[in-house]
Amino acid sequence: MIPKEGMSEEEVLAELEGRLKIDLTFNSGKILGSMCTYPHPLAQKIVQKYIDRNLGDPGLHKGSRQIEEEAVQMLGELLHLKKAYGNIVSGGTEANILAVRAFRNISDVEKPELILPKSAHFSFLKASDLLRVKLVWAELNKDYSVNVKDVENKITDNTIGIVGIAGTTGLGVVDDIPALSDIAVDYGIPLHVDAAFGGFVIPFAKALGYDLPDFDFKLKGVQSVTIDPHKMGMAPIPAGGIVFRKKKYINAINVLAPYLAGGKIFQATITGTRPGANAIAVWALLKHLGFEGYKRVVKEAMENTYWFAEQIKATKGVYLIREPMLNIVSFGAKKLKKIEAELKARGWGISAHRGYIRIVMMPHVKREHLENFLRDLREILKK
Ligand code: PLP
Repeated sequence: MIPKEGMSEEEVLAELEGRLKIDLTFNSGKILGSMCTYPHPLAQKIVQKYIDRNLGDPGLHKGSRQIEEEAVQMLGELLHLKKAYGNIVSGGTEANILAVRAFRNISDVEKPELILPKSAHFSFLKASDLLRVKLVWAELNKDYSVNVKDVENKITDNTIGIVGIAGTTGLGVVDDIPALSDIAVDYGIPLHVDAAFGGFVIPFAKALGYDLPDFDFKLKGVQSVTIDPHKMGMAPIPAGGIVFRKKKYINAINVLAPYLAGGKIFQATITGTRPGANAIAVWALLKHLGFEGYKRVVKEAMENTYWFAEQIKATKGVYLIREPMLNIVSFGAKKLKKIEAELKARGWGISAHRGYIRIVMMPHVKREHLENFLRDLREILKK
């Protein structure tokens, strides 16, 4: 209820302090199943400083708009694209919706269909519902990557696009994007890569020598990529990224915003008024951490991943769902529901998928947290 007379600042803060105690925090060491993390300290400073900047009205905030463009450009370069088109958006969901919207709008198909792996994120369900695009689900191989042959078999005259995933939500699997790209080129169908999670991992993991497939604009068929700074990019929520290879995709989703300060302004994003501070934070983190900085973050995450996977293998009563490709380890067990409930009762912020528990080695996840978790898990398994 809104009070008739406002409470003092101290009262409001004190109430919040009490009320929010039930939230888990990233620095508690208990959140092991999230794809988000504690934002980098520089990003926090930036958000506070530029909290008022609105990218929905770039005529007012011209500098912020330029910074957003440069941030998109840097993401493009990370993904082997010389000239990038796109936006810093609210997250992977919006980025995926924009890609599907662009593919649909440039096609002249009456009953549009999108082919995507069965492992795709649920954001595509929203895209389908909003955009009236039918989802055609492709089967997975035994290793949980998409079956490329099945993708090809499902192509029809109504196919407006294909989706490949570079870092699936549940298992961190990187699909065979080079093969999908070949098909996309052969059939003249655009390929969207959902690298919401993997986009800030794969380039650095590859540089560290991890054997991962190409997944980005190096491949001719790839026309758009989702890459989320608010996941492994350590940017504050909300900060997603959509990058298109060509301007025609942005043109296909641009809407005229007629009354804003900048005159004839176009918006391609779903949101109108949107936070400039977060886009500025993305720019700042890319500049501040640089390629080597992110590589160090990914190095620790990957080392924790392989260490933890070995620990799971050595633990009686649980098993690895598959060898990790990125910094995600998922494990199954016989009485999974019971184990999940007991872990949650002990305060662990884990992510339970159908058939397995997912642990994501985000930057806030340290070896000691994993050791504490394993201790609890082993205790529960012994019961
Ligand atoms: N795509 C993938 C592969 C994801 O894992 C996620 C979220 O986990 C999303 C898209 C959606 O991102 P968001 O929650 O930022 O909208």
